[in-house]
Amino acid sequence: MFKPIKEMMRVGNATTKYPFAPLERPEGARGKPEHDSANCIACAACAVACPPNAIQMVVDPKGGTIMWFINYGRCIFCGRCEEVCPTKCIKLSREFELAVMDKNDLEETCTYPLQKCSQCGKYFASAKEVAYAGDILEQQAENDEEAKRARELLSVCPTCKQKADAYRAKRRVDTVGDPTPDPTPEQMDEARKQADKNKAERRKEARF
Ligand code: SF4
Ligand code: SF4
Repeated sequence: MFKPIKEMMRVGNATTKYPFAPLERPEGARGKPEHDSANCIACAACAVACPPNAIQMVVDPKGGTIMWFINYGRCIFCGRCEEVCPTKCIKLSREFELAVMDKNDLEETCTYPLQKCSQCGKYFASAKEVAYAGDILEQQAENDEEAKRARELLSVCPTCKQKADAYRAKRRVDTVGDPTPDPTPEQMDEARKQADKNKAERRKEARF
């Protein structure tokens, strides 16, 4: 009879008073992510990295806005959002008690403006993200002209950029000729030999 009592005294308290007393959490314990909306540039890196899709981006092309959305009820405190955020504006806290009476209270949103393309006028990216990229390029530019050019390039949407590149390539070909010379007869012979060799090897492999 004394043996269990002795054992209990040796082990001490095996349980805690939680939830009647605060729970002591070890160093590095993970909890709910805290989002600093002022420094967020709505780049969507966290939404792409979030495994359970707790973070999502909702684009409103008509209204010209992009909404950052989080559902804490889905969050698994993995910390991927914190790892990928370029501005370090999302960080895991140690808060883990997320129980609410209304599940809508687990959601949070922030809305940001979209950037219009300077050529076609369509919205194409978060305005804050474009400005952030512009600041980085400006710091790396060697002179004012280069910085201005970088800003101009950033204000154009990918579709207009592709069109401009294609137009420039065509104009170059029209004025200075095709930069890709025609293959010589020797190069054509070599290419044919190589193609025959590849065909023979494929047939050989197919037999096995
Ligand atoms: S901690 Fe993980 S699950 Fe939670 S929001 Fe960040 S990436 Fe998503
Ligand atoms: S990665 Fe950071 S800056 Fe980008 S949308 Fe998420 S919280 Fe905002």
